[in-house]
Amino acid sequence: MGKKKVVEAVAATDKLIRVGKAVAGRGVFARFDLPAGQHLGQALGRVIDDPDYTSSYCIELSETASLEPYAPFRFLNHCCVPNSQLYVVECEYEDGSPAPNEIHVETLKAVKAGEEITIDYSWSAHAAIRCLCGHPGCRKWVVAAEELPELLAKKAKVAAKARQARQRRKEEGTANLRSVARNSPSLSKSH
Ligand SMILES: [Zn+2]
Repeated sequence: MGKKKVVEAVAATDKLIRVGKAVAGRGVFARFDLPAGQHLGQALGRVIDDPDYTSSYCIELSETASLEPYAPFRFLNHCCVPNSQLYVVECEYEDGSPAPNEIHVETLKAVKAGEEITIDYSWSAHAAIRCLCGHPGCRKWVVAAEELPELLAKKAKVAAKARQARQRRKEEGTANLRSVARNSPSLSKSH
């Protein structure tokens, strides 16, 4: 994308949304009442070709590449029941060879002026963190809906293991006390 095109794309996006103060840090807010299916703009940013790359903001483009988005979409916050979504536009060069995909943002439902624009981060279970979105439909974890059962099973396993370890420590504690009690007479005898 040429520089002029980028400037035009950013200007078009800025007409519809603005970055403002959110519950935690910054967020993206609608300037006007927006209908469902409104294209909000392209998430522009730096493409990083490294399968191990990770950051709080990056968007997965492919198996190996991530997009580190610039403002405003850098500040899109997660909600378990979001009003907007990212979508991928597959691109190719004029000669038909594959070009890096583009990420765009659109509303999923009507959004009121001043309302925060949110997306579902859909993180995989291993990256999940506690969710504070506060929506009645909150999954309690920032995780993809389809990975939630796996995450909860994993968390339950960890909790069960911790319980077992506590129980074992308790039992070993009493066992040690008992063995001390048994040993002490023989100890005193040897003196
Ligand atoms: Zn949530």
